[in-house]
Amino acid sequence: METLQDRLTAVRSRIARAAERVHRDPADILLLAVTKIFPAETICAAYHLGLREFGENYVQEFEGKAPALTRLEGARFHLIGHLQSNKSKKAAELFHTIQTVDSAKLARRLNEAGSPLDVMLEVKLSSEEAKSGAAAGELPDLIAAVRSCGNLNLLGLMTMPPWSDDPEAARPVFRALRELAERHGLHGLSMGMSHDLETAIEEGSTCVRVGTALFGKRKKQ
Ligand SMILES: *Cc1c(COP(=O)(O)O)cnc(C)c1O
Repeated sequence: METLQDRLTAVRSRIARAAERVHRDPADILLLAVTKIFPAETICAAYHLGLREFGENYVQEFEGKAPALTRLEGARFHLIGHLQSNKSKKAAELFHTIQTVDSAKLARRLNEAGSPLDVMLEVKLSSEEAKSGAAAGELPDLIAAVRSCGNLNLLGLMTMPPWSDDPEAARPVFRALRELAERHGLHGLSMGMSHDLETAIEEGSTCVRVGTALFGKRKKQ
């Protein structure tokens, strides 16, 4: 049986090899462990293997796990799923980073929660209907809005390309996100998941969000 430690070693070496190909330092790439659907015990197990940053998709689901995680000193939690502004206060309490800010209204609500918060802007770079995120053309105004919010620290951009088995399919999307970030003077790039993290790293990702390759297949909720 493959253990979590085995899978973590494999993911770390995939990150290192991809970084090496493009002469990047793997230390500049955050491995965000995506633990949606998995219980708090999974997060604790990953923490004890050295992981410190975790991604969750749903405010309510994470609210249920949070009480079991208070002793994980130095652990940081990122919201990577869509956030409705009526849940922004709760989200600001529970998470250290919100990666999915996609409107000025949401930014203002998070700012009003009153504590310092790291944020990324989710950008939608394909025409797929279901995906959330701001359009590239909305970014200048959105960036200005976030920068005027004293509690929000803007780290960069995040995207989720349309699903495809082929990791190369996402390359143009990753490249477009990097170009947008450069144009707006932003450093952070949250892009790449279990199946396409190499492509994302080659295109400049600073944060790969990895669930399945670490924890195995998720059961449908
Ligand atoms: C679930 C999820 C991931 C992780 O996907 P895997 O394919 O399991 O690695 C990454 N990013 C977001 C936004 C997700 O919802």
